[in-house]
Amino acid sequence: MPILVMKFGGTSVATLDRIRRAAKRVGREVANGYDVIVIVSAMSGETNKLVEFVGETGQFYDAREYDAVVSSGENVTAGLMALTLQEMDVPARSWQGWQVPLKTNSAHSAARIEEIPPENILAKFGEGMKVAVVAGFQGISPEGRITTLGRGGSDTTAVAFAAAFGAERCDIYTDVDGVYTTDPRISDKARKLDRIAFEEMLELASLGAKVLQTRSVELAMRYKVKLRVLSSFGELDDAAGTLVCDEDDIMESNVVAGVAYSRDEAKMTLISVADRPGIAAAIFGPLAEAGVNVDMIVQNISEEGRTDMTFSCPTDQVARAEKAMQAAKDSGEINFHDLVADTDVCKVSVVGIGMRSHAGVASQMFAALSAEGINIKVITTSEIKISVLIDRKYLELAVQALHDSFGLESAV
Ligand code: ASP
Ligand code: MG
Repeated sequence: MPILVMKFGGTSVATLDRIRRAAKRVGREVANGYDVIVIVSAMSGETNKLVEFVGETGQFYDAREYDAVVSSGENVTAGLMALTLQEMDVPARSWQGWQVPLKTNSAHSAARIEEIPPENILAKFGEGMKVAVVAGFQGISPEGRITTLGRGGSDTTAVAFAAAFGAERCDIYTDVDGVYTTDPRISDKARKLDRIAFEEMLELASLGAKVLQTRSVELAMRYKVKLRVLSSFGELDDAAGTLVCDEDDIMESNVVAGVAYSRDEAKMTLISVADRPGIAAAIFGPLAEAGVNVDMIVQNISEEGRTDMTFSCPTDQVARAEKAMQAAKDSGEINFHDLVADTDVCKVSVVGIGMRSHAGVASQMFAALSAEGINIKVITTSEIKISVLIDRKYLELAVQALHDSFGLESAV
């Protein structure tokens, strides 16, 4: 039998009624002739609640026990989904991560999947079981402890199962009906895309389009898992969604596939640092050690042996960055005149594989922003993405202007 992986996110299993609706979709795929692996999230809000409980026990908790607690939400939904399917006469059984076993490394709360031996579940399919309901987000470490894969990790569980079982497709059911050209809350002209390339999705996911966990897209790209994002709400039949696929499977791609943003960015500038070999390492080494996720970096032209160095990082890491820089200054590793933090900025990006073969995307982007009187503070580019840092108050305006400029209201 061909295998299908169906993943239901927190909002799709938020109540027993919704679990029943999800189970109907599963039952229909069984009727279509599939053996189905269902991956479930915890009911929406549950994981947050569990994380808070752990936090209330003290500040320096044991990460192994954190995982023991926060993984439990998924166990509940897995059991309830199996019961609901059985009630509908669909032979189903639930599996916690360790029972499969989904083997991970020992990096608690951010574990990486190492192996999913398919034998146990395949044996059950061989005995007539039709649906394996697996608790997402969790696994077992080499030491035999429960691990979790990081927030949003059930997406990654789903893709990993699809790869391990050679599934025909991995359907991710969520509360939106697909991947959009931009956030519909910001532009009412946002359009759902029928198809998007893995690489584009990867950029959009890491830029804050929260539909899929970034790691799940990386995994899907590596193993060429056909990934579909679709809504579990609405009628059983109107579930086209968005297919995330290889770029070769997209006939004619738009130059720009989407406009993404991230609101919580800060821009930090070290004024007048000595411009000498090793200075970048002396700055970004301590920042990395302090756990600061540096994103954009700009080094200005130097004058009389000194230069300014600008970088961006998430707003909530500014204090950490300042501390690390001050410590490096105090120890004499670096020397700067001043450290200026601008915490009122945001990042807006345009993404599209079509940029590889089309010139002029950057200039079109800058022209669209300038027509709105928006000043650009930092620019970075990659092969398929251009990002700018601008004042946060212009976020909506910038997203709308770029969406218009690249004609995304008629994207497909
Ligand atoms: N329940 C977990 C979370 O909220 C995992 C997931 O839903 O993907 O992060
Ligand atoms: Mg999610």
